[in-house]
Amino acid sequence: MKNILLLGATGSIGDSVLSVIKQNSDSLNLYGIAAGKNTEKAAAIIKNFSPKNIFIDDIKAYDEISSSHPDKNILNSDQELLNLISDDKVDIVISAIVGFAGLKASLMAVNSGKTVLIANKESIVAAGDILMPLAKSKGSKIIPIDSEHNAIFQCLPADKSTTDVSKIIITASGGPFLDIPLSKLNNISPKDALKHPNWEMGSKISIDSATLVNKCLELIEARYLFDLNEKLFE
Ligand code: NDP
Repeated sequence: MKNILLLGATGSIGDSVLSVIKQNSDSLNLYGIAAGKNTEKAAAIIKNFSPKNIFIDDIKAYDEISSSHPDKNILNSDQELLNLISDDKVDIVISAIVGFAGLKASLMAVNSGKTVLIANKESIVAAGDILMPLAKSKGSKIIPIDSEHNAIFQCLPADKSTTDVSKIIITASGGPFLDIPLSKLNNISPKDALKHPNWEMGSKISIDSATLVNKCLELIEARYLFDLNEKLFE
């Protein structure tokens, strides 16, 4: 049985991970979660998966979850988050807190030498030059779960060497504005940008996808994850 610590459990990636855990409940156990402020979703996860440890970042949400779950280990401080991430019983940390807020947790997870499944591309983009060498020195295995990067990860040989690779191409599938002429782009709203035709994702990544900023982040993410020479990818 593998003990999973899911950081960002109440988000869109959190939903997907929970469904994988549910389908593999004979081999995967939700040992702990971290969330921001969505108490309704956190309470539902606690009810359905009964994780022992629950970190809630927002103080009001923390108070609410603490008083409604007196039998659980409810955490709020940075030190408590660090202790949870470093807990020997945790086998796999999933880093799926959105935005720059995810960096702290990614750093803690890598520093603790854990296997880290990273969705939070922002932490690699902002601090890949710190995270990747730290992972090497601490023996932490970083596995990308951002889909394009996971596909690249799976295509590379076991040692992840790129010496036999002549090019890596990261494709874009087309977001909500693919067929909208440039002249009409002045009339679009954030609400339109949130309507991705293929995927239901959190709002930040949906907006980043619609503006193509997400692709830029993905290029930088790939560069750090696979130690790529810039001539190797496009
Ligand atoms: P969501 O907005 O759906 O979820 C974000 C999660 O982060 C929520 O659980 C939220 O908690 C939590 N959170 C936010 N701030 C904090 C904090 N300070 N402390 C603890 N938890 C916090 O985002 P997504 O699931 O879409 O994205 C997560 C990450 O995965 C992003 O980095 C994104 O770029 C990446 N990603 C997402 C993909 C997708 O398909 N969604 C695809 C590829 C990568 P709460 O809601 O309780 O406040």
